[in-house]
Amino acid sequence: MKTTRSLTRAVLVGTLSALTALATLHAAGPVETKWLGHDRNRPQPVVVDAGVPSTQDKPGKAPSDAIVLFDGSSLAAWCAMDGQATKWVNHDSALECVPGSGYARTLQSFGECQLHIEFATPAPAHGQSQGRGNSGVFFGMGKYEVQVLDSYENKTYADGSCGSVYNQYPPLVNVSRKPGEWQSYDILWTPPKFSSDGSLRSAPRLTVFHNGVVIQNNVELIGETGWLERAPFKAHPEKMPLALQDHGNPVRYRNIWVRELGTPAKPEFFLPDAVLDSYVGTYENCEIARRGANLLLTLSGVVTELYAESPTHFFSKVVDVQAEFDPTDRTVQVSIGEDGGSKKKKK
Ligand code: MG
Repeated sequence: MKTTRSLTRAVLVGTLSALTALATLHAAGPVETKWLGHDRNRPQPVVVDAGVPSTQDKPGKAPSDAIVLFDGSSLAAWCAMDGQATKWVNHDSALECVPGSGYARTLQSFGECQLHIEFATPAPAHGQSQGRGNSGVFFGMGKYEVQVLDSYENKTYADGSCGSVYNQYPPLVNVSRKPGEWQSYDILWTPPKFSSDGSLRSAPRLTVFHNGVVIQNNVELIGETGWLERAPFKAHPEKMPLALQDHGNPVRYRNIWVRELGTPAKPEFFLPDAVLDSYVGTYENCEIARRGANLLLTLSGVVTELYAESPTHFFSKVVDVQAEFDPTDRTVQVSIGEDGGSKKKKK
């Protein structure tokens, strides 16, 4: 009897081990079925010049495939949240927050990306806790904040300290430098995905390196970030502008660049309301309406959503339809595939 029990146990243990091994094999899964191992036809990685790292005295140079958002020369990539000119200033080749001027945002929208940004909090330090060197790097145009704060010998609540995903995740460690010293964030952003009914399909994720040290490791956000509240997700486009917070402190930024990840796509811009509204109306053979940052083209009863590639050029992501607006003579030229179309006057 005892032998039978031992045998049964041995069989059970053996079966469980085999199942565990099988499960592990399944979990690992095939890495990629499209290519053979060491496939000679597999495309080579694109060659990229890595650029030059910054020093305290000198900002570095972005990698060759990065979109430079600020290199000390121009504020052209930035505007106010409403699309008007930003009141932030270029001071000694740094993008500086002017207290009371509101957030600064990028004109261009970004989805999955790698962002490099450097910041310096005011020296000498003024105020304490959340009142010292407060700003923030926002994804989703003001929805999700990686906190910027002077956290050098400045105590505040953990999930509001420098490098926190505000009100959600404190940084793993505090690697803050002294006020006035240049610091860096290297951030990987995975935007949320929403279903057509507005429900959340996958939550956004953030990985953050502060001064080269990992402080957020692929954390999954639980909603929009905010003070005193944990707001739920609200559906928005995958690509949205990046924004920098005006929290009343003259925090400075430099050497800002972004690399878009994922499938290469056309650049998208989040244009001012006034520009988008100026295109809305009835044209000779079509209608233009608005949906958020995009336009809706109605042609022979078919509605096509158009995305801004520049202040005047729009494109569809579904069919090869493009529209070029001419604000001066109030016309639109809609081209479909090889058909270049002709300019149609606004009525
Ligand atoms: Mg902040």
